[in-house]
Amino acid sequence: MHHFNYHDQELHCERVPLKKIAEEVGTPCYVYSHATLSHHFTVFDGAFEKVPHLTCYSVKANSNLAILRLFGSLGGGVDIVSGGELYRALKAGIPSDRIVYSGVGKTLDEIDYALRENILMFNIESSQELAFINERAGKMGTRARIALRVNPDVDAKTHPYISTGMKKNKFGIDVDSAIQDYLKAKSLHNVEILGVDCHIGSQLTDISPFVDALRRLRMLIKKLEESGIHISHLDLGGGLGIPYNQETPPHPTEYARAVMEEMEGLHCTLIFEPGRVIVGNAGVLLTKVLYTKSTPSKNFLIVDAGMNDLLRPSLYDSYHHIQPVVRSSAESRVVDVVGPICESGDFLARDRSLPVVPEGDCLAVMSAGAYGFTMASNYNSRPRAAEVLVKDDQYFVIRHRETWDDLIRQEQVPPIL
Ligand SMILES: *Cc1c(COP(=O)(O)O)cnc(C)c1O
Repeated sequence: MHHFNYHDQELHCERVPLKKIAEEVGTPCYVYSHATLSHHFTVFDGAFEKVPHLTCYSVKANSNLAILRLFGSLGGGVDIVSGGELYRALKAGIPSDRIVYSGVGKTLDEIDYALRENILMFNIESSQELAFINERAGKMGTRARIALRVNPDVDAKTHPYISTGMKKNKFGIDVDSAIQDYLKAKSLHNVEILGVDCHIGSQLTDISPFVDALRRLRMLIKKLEESGIHISHLDLGGGLGIPYNQETPPHPTEYARAVMEEMEGLHCTLIFEPGRVIVGNAGVLLTKVLYTKSTPSKNFLIVDAGMNDLLRPSLYDSYHHIQPVVRSSAESRVVDVVGPICESGDFLARDRSLPVVPEGDCLAVMSAGAYGFTMASNYNSRPRAAEVLVKDDQYFVIRHRETWDDLIRQEQVPPIL
């Protein structure tokens, strides 16, 4: 469910016409619905209300402070993958005992920062990282709470770039050798074993890979208990998909039912790290049609948002539904929606049948709330877009559009020039 609907041919976010935001804030601009964000978080988190659990929203999907604050206020924690994300989470008021830290390449500074802040748990991705975190915790006179991220070798059946739980991926520790690393961890003085963790991929549209992974993790937990290692936390990662086009991913309640069934008799606090399923359909990217250009082979809509604003179509060949902000024509045309960037890979849609939209009108690129703004860059020296949060009939700018000054703020010309 989302809150982007037409009233009198005008697309609204909740009760605010998107046209008004485009006029007042400008384009390109990300717009998020407060009601959708809260609803999605509450539905996911509520699906597990019968069991001890913590929903740690995955910051990298959408890391705006306002959005983190909202989930924190709903009782959520966060899953972070960098020191920068830890900084954001703390600034947004997320309590440190609700923060878990994943990622294959944690640096010394990042590890020390997380130890100082006393986060809930490090999800460790290699024996080398385990040794290093133990060493850093020792230096600081503290103990790091840890889980090992296990690679259960299941095929998430999603895009290869966002599949993370197969043997050939860089993530996690091979499930068969994990026991060795747990025994090692048990012998170390400055780590405390809390859990087992996995994250098998993103945009999963089928429940069976989750169930397969969970079964493998259960077997591991059983073996660990037999070796005297007690596991109190089971982190199942994120990855639940959303409908972008024709996909029919399982509903969070269906996912929860399957997980809880597999969990029978296991007494662990469950941790989840959902990103996309919470924010994906809660945001759109507003963009203006600059030119309508026809060549002998194609009709192009040249818009003011490019691959620097929304990378997913270029990077993953992802589908995003596109709708006119004001419906003015019943006639449709097959077009390529392309950005201003000097790359042929700069497109938002190809060979798409869209209602005819005049130059100067706006389009809404749907399902852009996850991995949209967070993947934006300044390529072609384009200031990054503004972000807006809508609540009912009000809207708030939650990130100002960057200026040309912002583009060069960190640069300097050395005196030799
Ligand atoms: C990206 C990521 C997530 C979130 O994935 P979604 O598909 O957005 O739910 C969760 N955990 C880890 C470790 C990740 O890297």
